Amino acid sequence: MIAGVETGGTKVVCAVAERSGPILDRRTFPTADPDPTLRTIADFLAQAGGEANLEAIGVGTFGPVDLNPDSPDHGVIGHTPKQGWTGARVKESLEQQVGAPVAIDTDVNAAALAEARFGAAQGLDPVVYVTVGTGVGVGGVLGGRTLRGYAGAHPELGHLPVRRHTNDAFEGNCRVHGDCLEGMAAGPALAARWGPAETRGPAQDDLVADLAGYYLAQLVVTVTYALSPGCVVLGGGVSKSPGLTERTREHCVGLDAGYLGEHPLSRVTSDYLRPPAFEDEAGVLGALTLARDLLKARDG
Ligand code: ZN
Repeated sequence: MIAGVETGGTKVVCAVAERSGPILDRRTFPTADPDPTLRTIADFLAQAGGEANLEAIGVGTFGPVDLNPDSPDHGVIGHTPKQGWTGARVKESLEQQVGAPVAIDTDVNAAALAEARFGAAQGLDPVVYVTVGTGVGVGGVLGGRTLRGYAGAHPELGHLPVRRHTNDAFEGNCRVHGDCLEGMAAGPALAARWGPAETRGPAQDDLVADLAGYYLAQLVVTVTYALSPGCVVLGGGVSKSPGLTERTREHCVGLDAGYLGEHPLSRVTSDYLRPPAFEDEAGVLGALTLARDLLKARDG
């Protein structure tokens, strides 16, 4: 038996599955302080695992998190505005409470892994996964593995500096940068200009699509120039705003300005920028994949 855990900013999704089978049991609960949250996860896994001992646990967590296996802080949450979570020893705590090894990654890298292995980006490599919701998160897969940087770092492209749209006077609301990508195009930045998504009319939806699409297109062009992925998967609640994906594709064509020639980035009809196959499930499916990969590596 294996387990997959996605610890998000507001909720935790846990699933238990056979090593090469479907999900047998799952549970979702709100993210509270680290100690009670990790205890709830461990309790559920112990109960769902039953008589069969869990062999491995995959965890996709909100970041920042140290992904360096040689670091004493491997699997420890870095400086985060999420109350109480800075310094939380997620990997160590679950390993001690459950007694199974933990493979840890970011939630967006886990989601990218699921989409690349058996979702919207199946068979493609590299793959970039972007989620736009209360923040902007970017993960990816390169050479079959999730994107990791030097010394346990991971991509932070949600905070990409962006060129400002000429019709946009919003100062931006990233707590660090102000007008980075997240500060201009995540859900709270859009709500600050045009109100909550459910109260917007067609005219406001058009503005959201045009402006957020312009900022997201800068991310898509940047990751395309940096990594040449086979596709870019765009998910998260904001990605469902009417016309946003289409407008982002149009802005990609404009920003690239023909530089990449026949590349699908420069065709508005291309599905180079595409929706996820798994939506909210990608994180936990990716976490299960991390657990399977850990066992595969162990067994050779
Ligand atoms: Zn920022």
